[in-house]
Amino acid sequence: MKVYIKFVEHCILKIALDTPLDTFFDYRWLKPAPAPENGAAEATPLPQIGQLALVPFGRQELMGLIVGISEHTDVPAAKLKDVLAVRTQVAPLSEHWLALCRFAADYYQRPLGEVAVPALPRNLRTGKPTLLERHLKKLAKLLPTQDASPNPEPALNPAQQEAVDAIAAAHTFAPHLLYGVTGSGKTEVYLQAAARILAQSNEAQVLILVPEINLTPQLENNLRLRFSGIQIATLHSGMAEGERLQHWLAAHLGQARIVLGTRLAILASLPHLKMIVIDEEHDPSYKQQEGLRYSARDLAVWRAHQLAIPVVLGSATPSLETWQHAKVGRYRKLELRERAVKDAVLPVVRVINLEHEKPKEGLTTPLINAIRKRLERGEQSLLFLNRRGYAPVIACDACGWISNCTRCTAHLVMHKLDHRLRCHHCGFEQRIPRNCPTCGNIDLQPLGRGTQRMEEGLQLIFPEARVFRIDADSTRRKGSAEAAFDTVHRGEVDILIGTQMVAKGHDFKNLTLVGALNPDSALFSQDYRASERLFAQLMQVAGRAGRAAQKEGGNISEVLIQTRYPDHPLYHALMAHDYDRFANDLLEERQQASMPPFIYQALLRAEAKELQTALDFLHQAAVCTAHAGITINDPIPMTMTRVANVDRAQLLVESVSRPALQAFLKEWIATLRGLKSRVKWGVEIDPMDI
Ligand SMILES: [Zn+2]
Ligand SMILES: [Zn+2]
Repeated sequence: MKVYIKFVEHCILKIALDTPLDTFFDYRWLKPAPAPENGAAEATPLPQIGQLALVPFGRQELMGLIVGISEHTDVPAAKLKDVLAVRTQVAPLSEHWLALCRFAADYYQRPLGEVAVPALPRNLRTGKPTLLERHLKKLAKLLPTQDASPNPEPALNPAQQEAVDAIAAAHTFAPHLLYGVTGSGKTEVYLQAAARILAQSNEAQVLILVPEINLTPQLENNLRLRFSGIQIATLHSGMAEGERLQHWLAAHLGQARIVLGTRLAILASLPHLKMIVIDEEHDPSYKQQEGLRYSARDLAVWRAHQLAIPVVLGSATPSLETWQHAKVGRYRKLELRERAVKDAVLPVVRVINLEHEKPKEGLTTPLINAIRKRLERGEQSLLFLNRRGYAPVIACDACGWISNCTRCTAHLVMHKLDHRLRCHHCGFEQRIPRNCPTCGNIDLQPLGRGTQRMEEGLQLIFPEARVFRIDADSTRRKGSAEAAFDTVHRGEVDILIGTQMVAKGHDFKNLTLVGALNPDSALFSQDYRASERLFAQLMQVAGRAGRAAQKEGGNISEVLIQTRYPDHPLYHALMAHDYDRFANDLLEERQQASMPPFIYQALLRAEAKELQTALDFLHQAAVCTAHAGITINDPIPMTMTRVANVDRAQLLVESVSRPALQAFLKEWIATLRGLKSRVKWGVEIDPMDI
């Protein structure tokens, strides 16, 4: 292609733009006339596939991506517009990267431009060329020579060594499930495998994905300490745009040898990528929940396959999809059965039957006694309650009024500290009313407990204890989450109460008790994945306890679960630390019920002011295309039907064959575009919440 256009004065560029209208658009590129003072001395660089180009589009100017170059176009000459500028300062995006975007566009049924263009940093797309040049200059000054050899590495146990050897020995596509209990040293396997891969060539790059960087700062610290001689880039949504461009460029130019990022980093440009790690691969945050609803985990596996490199999926509670792949031998299972720290043992898990134990301030007597014991011994306790706010709802005893959001199918949550009622779905808020809006009764009662109310109750029961809360409300300011975790690490906290935020990544050395306060609701959720998620969450939060070595004569860590269903198989599997059995049983159930991963799904969602409008559209959609081998279920309102004054309904489409489903969707979506309707709709492939 480059040879072909070597001497041309003009050509047609096929440009992908961030619009749902089409895959690409044709524009004419004219070789700019040389400036008189330059004469013919300076050659104009010719455009290349993978470069960015600025083009007129309607009344706007859009930055798009050159995906093809040709002599011909079907656009009539009178309508053909000219390219305004081509960004030649940066090396073009690679054919591999374009192939990844093309695959994602195809699989998730979106135009290429809607995938590829937003995957690039905003400052690259909209910033001035001078800004870009400044960034490039800054990068050119950094680390002229890089030394990828790691600083001293700790010794591995035999299982860890076997895992590192297996990963590093793979010179082709090799998916590995690194299955190990919390504290079994998965991170050390990532680090030493990365060191081996980096040592194989002086340009190799490694991509490490984590669910959330801010909650797992220890991994970033470990990476920087271990590989102090090389450039490490981070990519996540919390970064300022300038910073993001800097790090993206470092990866794109091959300077950053390690890239650590959240799900969006899977679409980073990495010209010398040689290994991908996905930590906590089961975590739901790998699935994007708006716009292009991609799974970073699935794209990672595809990318590794395309590049013929190893990919490591790490978890103590693998997703059932991954578990099934490992079971049938598509993924190699590498198992870490022991905790890595010598003499550290798994905590004892017990259930407390709420039918027999009446709780006081949300805490049963056995749990209160267990906390008291920790206080006496100077150890820390962690209480896990996945519900922020003071109380999930307030109610009037006299007339039955309850605080509902008028815009959503949801309650308004009571936040006592700032006297507000808040909807956690649409953001609506108001002052807590002094009396009942219906009957005037002044005695409004909070129902149920959130983390704020637990904090208050704990302070009542243990007045001398230092009680500390970590949730989205207490850590709203930038940097406050890190500061909060530091407080716990410094030992300035006796009892920590928190939401799932406290379950991730942190090793609390002095923590020997974990209490799960109200996990039952997930057992009977309509969402069939709820129990899988609950198990993962409880296992993860339980893993915060007892990670340090048992002191001589010390006590074994405990996990206490308050439940009304002490005989539920999920709790039995937790007590036995037996994820294998739990996962195998769930897989069997899923197979019998024809559910994922034994069937492939897509979900058509529709939103409208009136529920009926949305349902009517879905009924129309259900019959508009022929469908052999496809099951189309009945349209139903979504569980949370109304959010911010919009009603939502859904239609589930299933097939045992992924290619059949893909073929159907292609045709179906084209037909849906032609349907006359005022609803807003979208199709999600492999939906997580149904
Ligand atoms: Zn009332
Ligand atoms: Zn609301």
